[in-house]
Amino acid sequence: MGFLQRTHACGSLRAEHAGQQVALNGWAHKVRDLGGLCFIDFRDRTGLVQLVLDPNSLPNLSEIRHETCLSVSGEVRVRDEQTKNPKMPTGEIEIIVTGYTVLGPAKPLPFPLSDEEQMQSVNEELRIKHRYIDLRRPSMYRKLAIRAGVIRRMRAYLDNQGFIETETPIITKSTPEGARDYLVAYRLEPGQWYALPQSPQQYKQLLMVAGIERYYQIAKCFRDESQRADRQPEFTQLDLEMSFVTQEDVLNLAEGLLRDVLNGVVEEFGLDKAPIEPFERLTFDEAMLLYGCDKPDLRFGLKLFDITPLVANSGFGVFKSIAESGGMIRGVRYPGGAQLSRKEVGQLEEFCKEFGAKGMASLGVVAASEAGEEARVVGDLAVKSSIAKFFSDEELAQILKTAQAEAGDLLCFIADEYASGNNVLYRLRNEIGDRCGLRDPRVLKFCWVIDFPLVEWNAEDGRWDAVHHPFTGPKDEDLIYIDSDPGKIRADCYDVVCNGVEMASGSIRIHRPDIQSKVFKLLGIDEETQKERFGHMLEAFSYGAPPHGGIAPGVDRLVMLLNDTENIREVIAFPKIGGGYDPMMEAPSTIDPQQWAELGLRMSK
Ligand code: ASP
Repeated sequence: MGFLQRTHACGSLRAEHAGQQVALNGWAHKVRDLGGLCFIDFRDRTGLVQLVLDPNSLPNLSEIRHETCLSVSGEVRVRDEQTKNPKMPTGEIEIIVTGYTVLGPAKPLPFPLSDEEQMQSVNEELRIKHRYIDLRRPSMYRKLAIRAGVIRRMRAYLDNQGFIETETPIITKSTPEGARDYLVAYRLEPGQWYALPQSPQQYKQLLMVAGIERYYQIAKCFRDESQRADRQPEFTQLDLEMSFVTQEDVLNLAEGLLRDVLNGVVEEFGLDKAPIEPFERLTFDEAMLLYGCDKPDLRFGLKLFDITPLVANSGFGVFKSIAESGGMIRGVRYPGGAQLSRKEVGQLEEFCKEFGAKGMASLGVVAASEAGEEARVVGDLAVKSSIAKFFSDEELAQILKTAQAEAGDLLCFIADEYASGNNVLYRLRNEIGDRCGLRDPRVLKFCWVIDFPLVEWNAEDGRWDAVHHPFTGPKDEDLIYIDSDPGKIRADCYDVVCNGVEMASGSIRIHRPDIQSKVFKLLGIDEETQKERFGHMLEAFSYGAPPHGGIAPGVDRLVMLLNDTENIREVIAFPKIGGGYDPMMEAPSTIDPQQWAELGLRMSK
């Protein structure tokens, strides 16, 4: 074999092993040559242990550089009292090396691996280009191990509940989830294309028609859409589907699963997270009204409030005219914000303008007892603001009451149409939450958002788009609006949200071909196109399809949450960088002229 196989894992050695002869396999994490002696922090996947090498007995030590792969043998010795390192699990001992074999020499590294702090400043593209080195860091190994823990527990939970794991094809036909498809040319018939699935949605529904009843898969999904910190062109979902279920059944299963999996991983890895509480539930309408978005961060309150009726007839022209044109004047409290200087309030207004606000009005609130000359006293409180003069005492009192204002608050108001106002207010609320330290990473605050609308109007293209996907079931009682007022139809559609991020989406599906066809039609898919693109679904539904529904939690997102990172690339072994590029493999890449020819393709210049 040419080298000594390990007797122990590096990270497992303790004082109790003193005096034992051991063989270790791993990498020279950090090499410190002190002239007289050479010290090496030696690493394998279980941790680090200190090696001591004497150049008198081991003359070629300069061949050992950072990240050289080695097999070493030696004796475990308890360190002198003053050299013990309480920060290292193996810090009480060291290995007096008697012999070693270089298994893999190492060139100088593209970045220094042994110093986590220094790694923070290393260019991410460079790390990903040499991911096989980057992943050697114990912190990266841990992220992958947490990921594996999440997946292992998902499987265990579902296997226990009678689900069967089923693989579905990767080269297939377009399965729309609202993104662009990745396409694969078909060699045997030029002009024909496969699409990579945006999700296994159609296959999992067909498995329900097939009588599988309980399916899951750790599924790769492919979506060609603009990249963001939390998006990758291919990502992983826990995709699941169940037959003969109501929305309530899916909600209960998914909530039980997520709490069990995440609480289990938190315990297994000793993560600093509070146990996950039962999920709150909000309807889509409530979420929009109270938090301005369908992915509210419920770690803190600061619900939005509406003062439209209070100011519609006030002397403040801006509010008045927005109210008269059907807009709304809503706001959010900023606890402690009354302290802000005029300049700081201006910066907050700029923040709102970045997201499309025309402006942000504000009222500083202080205790009446502490009010200065310029403040207007209203009961126990007083307000400071250039806009206060436009309101009567009664109007101000009503505004403070509606906002549930407290001394020290800055009340921030956005006057706009409902939808555009929401877009600003939810970001402003999150910003205030950040500034007030209310978004505690130790807390994983989950909620359900239910009763999404089935469709939304796409003004640009002048048509209705599915809010979730075209297979989502309308609520029976709302089907009456399908011809008259489709925007009013609610769907049996639900999202899991945690700390302001969407973690899963699902729905009860349509299982009747007539209704599916109607919904396709509503989405502007005419009968011919329906047949061409989704004929297999319509046909399958006509052979005794069971009612069914499911959900798909995002595995990457859950692992990000557990690892306290907003960068999805940190939790994927081999991620793509901007533009979907893989700098390590140098993919995408050109193909041979012969491959072009085989596929019947030509570049149009
Ligand atoms: N296919 C859906 C998605 O990717 C999930 C589901 O409806 O189960 O969002």
